[in-house]
Amino acid sequence: MTAEFGSELDGQVAIITGASSGIGEATAKSLASRGASVALAARREEELNDLAAQIEGEDGETLVVPTDITDDEDIDNLVETTTAEYGHIDILVNNAGYMPLTHIADADRETLHNTIDVNLDGVITLTHAVIPEMLDQDNGHIVNLSSVVGRFAMENSSHYMAAKAGVAGFGEALRLDVAAEGIRVSTIEPGAVNTELTEDIPDEDLRSDVEEYNQSMRQLRPDDIARTITFVVTQPEHVDINEVLVRPTDQVQP
Ligand code: NDP
Repeated sequence: MTAEFGSELDGQVAIITGASSGIGEATAKSLASRGASVALAARREEELNDLAAQIEGEDGETLVVPTDITDDEDIDNLVETTTAEYGHIDILVNNAGYMPLTHIADADRETLHNTIDVNLDGVITLTHAVIPEMLDQDNGHIVNLSSVVGRFAMENSSHYMAAKAGVAGFGEALRLDVAAEGIRVSTIEPGAVNTELTEDIPDEDLRSDVEEYNQSMRQLRPDDIARTITFVVTQPEHVDINEVLVRPTDQVQP
């Protein structure tokens, strides 16, 4: 890979969910540039293949595993395929997300269930699938994407905030159960990042209000969060950065 980067992650294997765009895509590139082999998971296979070609064009190592994070069989397949290819899993970045902001009275049940299924249940289930290998090897790092909206309330986010606060709580309690086996757990809480995430907001007026608010500030870029995640996973083994809240300098609320 490019000489400016280090090789702190040489020999390590990272699964990154939601790698087809935004923060996941940037994180995959960043971890691969430090020497990690990256398993790229999301539903859009073409985008994953494009990303794999870019990373491999820079001499990185990738594995594309199309995955719907709400599907238990896909989750097991992701872990089995990665283990069969590389023999171990060192880092899991639970990044796949879905943010259909809406007033609860305007939400349909499917949207509410999907919000929890993608953002919270997917995190718990994939962690459940990966953790036995990490326990066996007495080593591993789980990085979970929560949000500033897991810490501080925002209008029209009740279901999304419940999921993201759940992710933070899951990570904190998980850490107690696995820290003695050398497994680190980190929660990342981004503020506004310029990605496709707002496209999931079903109501057009609300979507343009949120996008207008985001555009009123110098939003974070996916690279900014990828750099944060890379910093977190390249610490010495005795250092576990448990929680990082990263807002754009201009973001006051939430
Ligand atoms: P993007 O919309 O760019 O990325 C979301 C990713 O999640 C996509 O790769 C998408 O892939 C994947 N995804 C969605 N549903 C599923 C599913 N059912 N199965 C597998 N993958 C799925 O947004 P971001 O990069 O911004 O989001 C990344 C994470 O960061 C999310 O957890 C989000 O909540 C969190 N976050 C983002 C903030 C922001 O301002 N952007 C702020 C705070 C947190 P595909 O459609 O191909 O399946």
